[in-house]
Amino acid sequence: MDRRCFLGAILAPGVALASPGWSEFWAQPRTLWLRRSGTNEEVKLTYWKDGLLLRDPYIQLCRFLRDVHTGDAVYMDPRILDLMFVVHGYQFSTVGATSRLTITNAYESKLTNRRLVMTHGASRTSRHMSGQAVDIANPIRPQDYVEYMKYLGAGGVGYYPDSGHMHLDTGPKRSWTKSKF
Ligand SMILES: [Zn+2]
Repeated sequence: MDRRCFLGAILAPGVALASPGWSEFWAQPRTLWLRRSGTNEEVKLTYWKDGLLLRDPYIQLCRFLRDVHTGDAVYMDPRILDLMFVVHGYQFSTVGATSRLTITNAYESKLTNRRLVMTHGASRTSRHMSGQAVDIANPIRPQDYVEYMKYLGAGGVGYYPDSGHMHLDTGPKRSWTKSKF
């Protein structure tokens, strides 16, 4: 599938912001500033510009979002990059600046998923296994989650207050908060 058409046709109208300035938001170059917990790697990459998904930064981001336990990487769904870019947009709209997103989990190989099912009760059919999900440590203020869930026009967003992380995926639009107790 042509990733460019896919994004242009499906994503831009789908991931809607509730505020004006939506088309300007998607027209600007899309840059992600990310860090991996555990390995402490950091990248700041523009993966989209002038209507094009940029191949080299995209591949670098796919590697960056690999399964750090096995080293396996896949072609990530480009829409998950856009959902992370929306987090940066939200940060900017609430506090006037973007800050680095700390990725705690992204692509999961079968092996890693099997382990997480046993140790953390993860889903066996996790979207992490298809490169369509990421977990981010505290990217926004806890008090902003309800607002953020309204603000995000597509995909799944979960808030885990106990560990303080946000799950994002490119599945159907839905949101949840999940505490252990
Ligand atoms: Zn997750």
